[in-house]
Amino acid sequence: MRKFAVFGDPIAHSISPRLHNLAISALNLDAFYGRVHLTDAKKLESTFNALNLSGANITVPHKEVAFEICDQIDDYAQNIGSINTIVKRDEKFLGFNTDAPGFMRSVAKFGEINSALIIGAGGTARALAFALKKSGIKVQIVNRSAQKAQNFIGYDFFDWSNFSPNSYDLVINSTSAGLKDENLPLPKEILSEVFSASKFAFDVIYGRNTPFLELAEHFSLATKDGSEMLLNQAVLAFDKFFDGKFDLKIVENAMKIAFTL
Ligand code: NDP
Repeated sequence: MRKFAVFGDPIAHSISPRLHNLAISALNLDAFYGRVHLTDAKKLESTFNALNLSGANITVPHKEVAFEICDQIDDYAQNIGSINTIVKRDEKFLGFNTDAPGFMRSVAKFGEINSALIIGAGGTARALAFALKKSGIKVQIVNRSAQKAQNFIGYDFFDWSNFSPNSYDLVINSTSAGLKDENLPLPKEILSEVFSASKFAFDVIYGRNTPFLELAEHFSLATKDGSEMLLNQAVLAFDKFFDGKFDLKIVENAMKIAFTL
């Protein structure tokens, strides 16, 4: 039996086991996907080996530490600085970032995108900024504070105090504003100005209609929450785990059921 797991702290909330086990079951594979509550990042490699895993997903706060155990790292992970998928092959650890291509797969369904505004400057913003730029999309970033500007060298970076809105095809909330509160990621008057000249709004937060998405709907933008991004990163990780052997449509359809349970 091939074994996989997701590592994180906290981890109880993760739906990754549900997503992957649904695909494993639909394809009738001899495999199992579990979860590991890892508090000490230094134990990532030893725990992975002790559990005799073939692959793993890595989530908060270990995505950066995962670099240290990988022998080869894909272009996305290298540029973004975080790994969310590890595959063990021939005693070597291969590291990937599937969050970024998962996000691109999700926003591609909106329609043509030539320009984007990312609100927020955390790890997720870094992944999305790189993915958009790699696809030739013009990107601006606006964050509440200026401290994280050094993580966005080569991008148009603003903080709230020096930002003046343009029109954008896509506006993204990559902050945690709206996750457990009713906050908007930008002051309402600035965000309203942005939305009044933009087409699509994407929130990385999933499973709730955030104040960001509500305001976007008020301005008649097409909207999407982060569920599909979460689904896509899992589909693409599964593809890495099983070496591209399975039809991704079958994997995606099986995993989708997780959101209805
Ligand atoms: P980080 O902690 O790395 O960054 C958070 C960012 O949000 C910072 O730029 C911070 O600004 C900003 N921020 C936080 N609160 C507010 C607020 N009230 N108003 C304005 N800005 C705020 O977080 P991550 O990048 O790791 O994650 C961000 C979100 O993405 C989370 O909600 C997470 O759940 C979600 N996520 C979704 C995924 C999916 O598959 N759908 C995948 C990964 C993450 P400052 O620098 O000023 O503090």
